[in-house]
Amino acid sequence: MTEKITIGDFTVTVLTDGASHLPPSAYPGADFERFPELLDATGTYRIRLGAHLVQGPAGTFLVDAGAGPLSMPFPAELAAANGLGNPPPHMAQAGELPESLAAAGVAPEEISAIFVTHLHLDHVGWLAHFPNATVHYGAEDWPLLVGAAPADDPTRVIMEAAGRAGVLRTYPAEDAEVLPGVTVMRVPGHTPGHVVIALSSGGEQLWFTGDLVELPAQLTDREIHFMTDVDREAAAGARARLFARARAEGIVIAAAHLSDPSFRRVTAENTWADATVR
Ligand SMILES: [Zn+2]
Repeated sequence: MTEKITIGDFTVTVLTDGASHLPPSAYPGADFERFPELLDATGTYRIRLGAHLVQGPAGTFLVDAGAGPLSMPFPAELAAANGLGNPPPHMAQAGELPESLAAAGVAPEEISAIFVTHLHLDHVGWLAHFPNATVHYGAEDWPLLVGAAPADDPTRVIMEAAGRAGVLRTYPAEDAEVLPGVTVMRVPGHTPGHVVIALSSGGEQLWFTGDLVELPAQLTDREIHFMTDVDREAAAGARARLFARARAEGIVIAAAHLSDPSFRRVTAENTWADATVR
């Protein structure tokens, strides 16, 4: 089933690329006994890998670009460290994004821009798949996640190729409207250059929050982090600030890895509600 939502004149579609299975140790501070429903039979938390397609008056563009074709076995030492007797075969598997895009009726050539929330591989994997797209990213991510990475690191290979192709554009240093109805908000924490992309149309708002939130309980628990957060305090502070605003203004949250449902609202009681209109 394709998940979609309309925000005024924009249509937003979830593009699935694959999935990742993460062990409890990926979320420092999270007590999974409080939410056992999140763990499957392998004892891991399954997250969606993918991107969001946006169609509207500002053109056809993507937020993030999936993980790319990959198949990453589940590391035995990670299974042992988490006491997983029956771990999943793969920690991450992806490669479906082109089919997901085709199922949405869109050709790769139609994508005019890709707004990357941050430079982790699972957000830049398919950048080279879109010949007419400019690629927008937070410059603060480059030194840590590209410049300091080994020469054969997949993210580095992808970003350097995009650089040679002349398609890279950096975000403005301050929050700014980058297309009509599309605003970039600087939200460092998960990575130094992490952004939230905000859509606004017809009195409705949606935020693409990238990896600001990965576990639903992060809505209320500031002590739950993600292993790859470079600045946990900044990430937790940004979550608290942005979720309070989302609750007050009824803003739809589209997180990169949250699914079932993919589009959510923060309720007055500070819990999640399904925002999808079916
Ligand atoms: Zn991610």
